[in-house]
Amino acid sequence: SGILYIVATPIGNLQDITRRALDVFAQVDLIAAEDTRHSGLLLGHYGIKKPFFALHDHNEQQKAALLVEKLQQGVHIALISDAGTPLISDPGFHVVRQCRLAGIQVVPLPGACAAITALCASGIASDRFCFEGFLPAKSKARRDKLQNLAEEPRTLIFYESTHRILETLEDVELAFGGERYAVLAREITKTWETISGDIISRLRQWLSEDPNRTKGEMVLIIEGKPKSENIEFDGQALKALQLISRELP
Ligand code: SAM
Repeated sequence: SGILYIVATPIGNLQDITRRALDVFAQVDLIAAEDTRHSGLLLGHYGIKKPFFALHDHNEQQKAALLVEKLQQGVHIALISDAGTPLISDPGFHVVRQCRLAGIQVVPLPGACAAITALCASGIASDRFCFEGFLPAKSKARRDKLQNLAEEPRTLIFYESTHRILETLEDVELAFGGERYAVLAREITKTWETISGDIISRLRQWLSEDPNRTKGEMVLIIEGKPKSENIEFDGQALKALQLISRELP
C-alpha cells in the first residue's frame, strides 16, 4: 500500500522548508491540505504542482476514511497544514490514527513548529513544558482553564490570536498574578518578528499601549509556578504546631 508522509511546512519564512520535504512533494501522488488554494500557492513557490485533497477540522473524520482507502490502493500521500507541523493545533490526528490502525506506514518529516521555535528563544525553562494550544474562546471557560493551570510548575505554551491577546493576558493575570514572567513571541521567522518578555502585569500594560504590539500571529509562553520558599502547612499540621507551641516554655 501507499505511504502517508506527515510534512511540516514553514511558519512564515519560505526558506524554512527541508530538502527532504521538497523531495517527498515531488514523489507523492496526492497532497492532503487544509486550504488547498493557500497550499497551492505555497508549493508553487517551490515549483511543485500536485493534485490536492481538502482536509478540514470539521470533515477530517469522514475524509480520513477516504484517504485510508486511497493509501490501500497504493496512492502515496503527503499531509500538510496551512503552516508548521500538521496535527499541532491543526488537522491530521484522525488521519494518522486511522492509518496506523489500518497498518499503513506513516512517515513523519520534521520541520517548523511555532511552539518549539518560540520556546527556544524565550529564555523560559525548556526542560519541561506543557503545550496548551489555543485557550477556549469564551471568557468563563478560558478563566476556568487558566485557574486549573495556575499551580503547574512546568513552562506553559499557548497559541493566541491577535484580537484576543489582551483579554487573555487579563485572565492570565487574574489566575497567575502579575509577577510571573511571560514571553510573547510574535510573527516568528517573518519581517516583524518580535520576542518580548516581562512580568505579566508589565507585559500586558506595554502591549495595551500600542496596537502594533499585538498584531500578527503569536505564541504566549508563561513561566511555570516557581517553587515556593515557604513550607505550606495544611489545617491539621497547623493545629498540631499550635498545640506543641503551647507546651513549649
Ligand atoms: N501547526 C502550526 C505549528 O506547527 O506551529 C500551528 C497552527 S495554529 C492553527 C496557528 C497558530 O500558531 C497561530 O495562531 C499562532 O498562535 C501560532 N503561529 C503560527 N505561526 C506563527 C508565527 N510565525 N509566529 C508566531 N506564532 C505563530
